[in-house]
Amino acid sequence: MRTPRLFAASFAVWFSLSTAALFPLASPTLAWNATGHRLIAAIAYDRLTPKVRARVDALIRKHPDYETLFLRGVTSTDPAVRARMAFINAAVWPDQIKGDPRFYDETRANASPTPLLPGFPDMARHTTWHYYDTPITPDGAEAEIQKPPHALSELNRILPLIGSKADVPPTSAANPTYLLPWLEHVEGDVHQPLHCVSRFLKSQPKGDAGGNFVYVGPNRNLHSLWDGAAGNDMSDAYLAKYIADAQTAHPAHGRMEKKPEKWIAEGYRIAISDVYTFGLETGTRDHPITLPSGYDANAAKVAQQRIAIAGYRLAAVLNEKLK
Ligand SMILES: [Zn+2]
Repeated sequence: MRTPRLFAASFAVWFSLSTAALFPLASPTLAWNATGHRLIAAIAYDRLTPKVRARVDALIRKHPDYETLFLRGVTSTDPAVRARMAFINAAVWPDQIKGDPRFYDETRANASPTPLLPGFPDMARHTTWHYYDTPITPDGAEAEIQKPPHALSELNRILPLIGSKADVPPTSAANPTYLLPWLEHVEGDVHQPLHCVSRFLKSQPKGDAGGNFVYVGPNRNLHSLWDGAAGNDMSDAYLAKYIADAQTAHPAHGRMEKKPEKWIAEGYRIAISDVYTFGLETGTRDHPITLPSGYDANAAKVAQQRIAIAGYRLAAVLNEKLK
């Protein structure tokens, strides 16, 4: 998920008194909603080799939030079911900590760190890790280049560390147990096209924060439309049906792309071909734009393909790095 940083109850009021252009709202954060991330993780988990799955399970079990968050609501006593659900739920953890008072937003001016808890290398929310803003500049507006840390820098940092067999202390930023939920999540995020781009217009020189500032309906922006394009249903039945349908419609074939820069470049191309297909308007909260007919249906179709391929690629990198 990627939400503008100041997305709070007061945000609507505050925002109506200002404009995106006047305030540095950049540092957006929200990609896929929880359903999207869980779908990707489920597809990936089921494709892990038995050896890699055992290693992944062992890493996840050591996470400080294993019992409290990863297994929350899991009633099965079957160890295999519990391990799979923990992996699936761990994919949502980087979004969950955005509202978790144990963690702090290090991007805020005068941010003060919350106390370091056992098992964590730091307590930052790392909201900028969720996206990489490749600029889209259709009217020649000047773009702002996103500085690291961002999704690209972090994926490239995490991938070489995730398979480490060294005895990395939990307090190390290189601790694979800490990094695994991040890898699951950010790899998924960059398969949502609006986590790979920000559109800059002369009328919107700070960018649209991956579609967060393009208004497409009452209480709906372009980013949230795409976050929810794989649905919002959290039930096991929905998960099972969606992953079966997605894999039937988009079977895995050929070599799996494992380079984050390629994933993001692909997201950029899809943002051009399937996301920003409505012209240069941005709409406003009071006067949202009307999307072309069939837009939502196409988004759902694209999302299904993105979810499938994100699952396949996550499995491919884990099978490679943890073999
Ligand atoms: Zn995210």
